[in-house]
Amino acid sequence: MKKLLYSEKEIKKRVRELAALIDLDYQCRELTVICVLKGSVIFMTDLIREIKTPLTYDFIFLSSYNGAKSTSCIRLEKDLTLSLKDKHVLVVEDIFDTGFTGEFLRERIMAEEPASLKFCVLLRKKDVDLNLKIDYTGFDIGAEFVVGYGLDYRQKYRQLKDLHILSEEEL
Ligand code: 5GP
Ligand code: MG
Repeated sequence: MKKLLYSEKEIKKRVRELAALIDLDYQCRELTVICVLKGSVIFMTDLIREIKTPLTYDFIFLSSYNGAKSTSCIRLEKDLTLSLKDKHVLVVEDIFDTGFTGEFLRERIMAEEPASLKFCVLLRKKDVDLNLKIDYTGFDIGAEFVVGYGLDYRQKYRQLKDLHILSEEEL
């Protein structure tokens, strides 16, 4: 059973608000957007089309999840292709849960010596104590397992237009 968390309309509105905040902060300094595959791809493509600041983008593919469990063992499945040296980097992530993926990303990207690094996350599980600063957050949520709008459960449900909570019986 799935329960609606945020509708397509609510997501669209929030994505526009995030883009406006980003435009305000960067003031036409060119951005390099890093999309974290696979979960962030739908969010990132919607977000960049609302951003007016000039930008380029790249992809990094990480995996850590095993079904519905987060693990601290992060695998780099596909690395970045652009050099990030002296770039203003904005990482776009679907969800921060334990924050291990975020820590991994920060280390990987800081090794490239960017001019700046910020994080934009659609969903943040608020019960989790994160050391990592998130600059732009779409929605704070509870500990539930969420699918849709790019987020999967065993690679399914990514194409759903709304965000849903997957019930315990499904996991
Ligand atoms: P973290 O390393 O912060 O624990 O987990 C980050 C990654 O785990 C996210 O990028 C996402 O791929 C996955 N993840 C964490 N929570 C959820 C969730 O509720 N639903 C889905 N589908 N993936 C999640
Ligand atoms: Mg992810």
